[in-house]
Amino acid sequence: MSLTAAADIRYDLTNTVPPPGDIAPVKDRHHHIHLKTSVAWLFLFLSGAAVAEPVLDETVHAALRKTMVAVIAANAGLTSAKTGKKEFDRRVLEVMGSVPRHEFVPPHLRPVAYQNRPLPIGYGQTISQPYIVALMTDLLDVEPGDTVLEVGTGSGYQAAVLANLAKQVLTIEIIKPLAEQATARLRRLGYRNVKTRIGDGYYGWKEYAPFDAIIVTAAADHVPPPLIQQLKPGGRMVIPVGGRFFTQQLLLVEKTPDGKITTRQILPVRFVPLTGKH
Ligand code: SAM
Repeated sequence: MSLTAAADIRYDLTNTVPPPGDIAPVKDRHHHIHLKTSVAWLFLFLSGAAVAEPVLDETVHAALRKTMVAVIAANAGLTSAKTGKKEFDRRVLEVMGSVPRHEFVPPHLRPVAYQNRPLPIGYGQTISQPYIVALMTDLLDVEPGDTVLEVGTGSGYQAAVLANLAKQVLTIEIIKPLAEQATARLRRLGYRNVKTRIGDGYYGWKEYAPFDAIIVTAAADHVPPPLIQQLKPGGRMVIPVGGRFFTQQLLLVEKTPDGKITTRQILPVRFVPLTGKH
C-alpha cells in the first residue's frame, strides 16, 4: 500500500454510527489520532521499514489504544443526555484499552484500527465503532460470573471485549467465512471462554440459555422473541432496532426479576441488518 493510498482510505459507512451532532466536538481529536497514525506510518515509510503492509509495533498500538479510550470517554460525556451516563464503567474502558483491535481488522486497515469509526471486515460487514462497542458493553453491565450471548460475531472484537468481563461468551455469526475467521482469531489470541457458532442468531442458543446478558450487533426490525425468552430474569439485552435503510434506535431491554419486560431507547445508531430467514 502506498502512503497516498493509506491517507485516502474511504469507508463504506453502512455501519454503526452515532448521530453526527453528538460527536462533532471530538472530531478534531479524531483528526489528531489520524495524524498520529499517519505520522507513525510516515516514520516507518521514511525509515525504510514500510513494506507491503504497514507494521506498527506494540508500543505504537498501545499509545493509539490509549488515545482511543480518551475519545470514547469524551464521547460518553457528550452523549450523556441521551444515554443517561456521563462516564462508562472503568472496567469497560480498561478492557477497551487492552484488547488489540488491530488484530480484528484486515491487515491493510491496521494503521487506522484505533480510530473511532467502524471499519469494513469483508462480506459487506463491519467491525463496529469503538465508542458504540464501549456503550453497548457498558449498558450490558456484565459481572464476572455472567454468561453472555452475542448475535453477530463479525470480526470477534466485541466478543473479545466481553470475554474479558464475563465468565463465558457465546457468539453466533450467520456468514460462514466470517465465523471461521473469528473463531481462528479468538483461538490464536487465547480467548478460551468464547464459544462460536455458525447460524441464525435470531433464534438464540437454547443449549446455553438462559443468559445474563444478550447483545445483538446487527439491526432487527423487532426484538426477536426467542432472545427475550432466553434472557434470565434480571437480565439485560442491548439491540439496535429499526429498518435497514434508516437510522435505528439502540434499545436496552430488561427482564425484571418477576419476568416483566421494560424497554428504553438509548441512542440513534446505524448498523448492518440482521439477516436470515426468520
Ligand atoms: N460484533 C462484530 C464485531 O465485533 O466485529 C460486528 C458485527 S457486524 C456490525 C454485524 C454482524 O452480524 C455481521 O457479521 C453479520 O454477518 C452478522 N449477522 C447478521 N445477521 C445475523 C444473524 N441473523 N445471525 C447471526 N449473525 C448475523
